[in-house]
Amino acid sequence: MRIGLGEDTHRLTGGGPLRLGGVDIAHDRHTVGHSDADVLLHAVTDALLGAAGLADIGQLFPNTEAENRGRDSGEILRLAYEQVTSAGYQIVNLDCVVAAQQPQLAPHKVRIRRRIAEILSLTVDQINVKAKTGEGVGPVGEQLAIEARCVVLVDDKA
Ligand code: MG
Repeated sequence: MRIGLGEDTHRLTGGGPLRLGGVDIAHDRHTVGHSDADVLLHAVTDALLGAAGLADIGQLFPNTEAENRGRDSGEILRLAYEQVTSAGYQIVNLDCVVAAQQPQLAPHKVRIRRRIAEILSLTVDQINVKAKTGEGVGPVGEQLAIEARCVVLVDDKA
């Protein structure tokens, strides 16, 4: 068994919807980035790559490449997981934390878990998503950014 940790931060700017965990959430702000700026899927991707000892998301999908502009992070995650499975690993479970002052994520957690499970061909019970606020302070609390963290456990397929 091996463990991986992924972490990401994206700035927020005006206008919705918010793309998070592969779903669009009605909100008056959205994250900014070279791809679709899905902060949660980026953290999941890096956790998986890390567990397999592979290069990180920035090396595999550089923000200097035109093909990654506006790219669906679900596709990035799927491609990264293909590399992980090629390296001989499968996911046992993954656990995520999203820090966002707004919107309230509780009503969206099941939809996000289902979407991540769909992207990775897993069952929903293998995916957990937790939500925190920024307690009104710092970049998260002031709604300047959203942060995400993910840990994943993998084992070898044999
Ligand atoms: Mg990112």
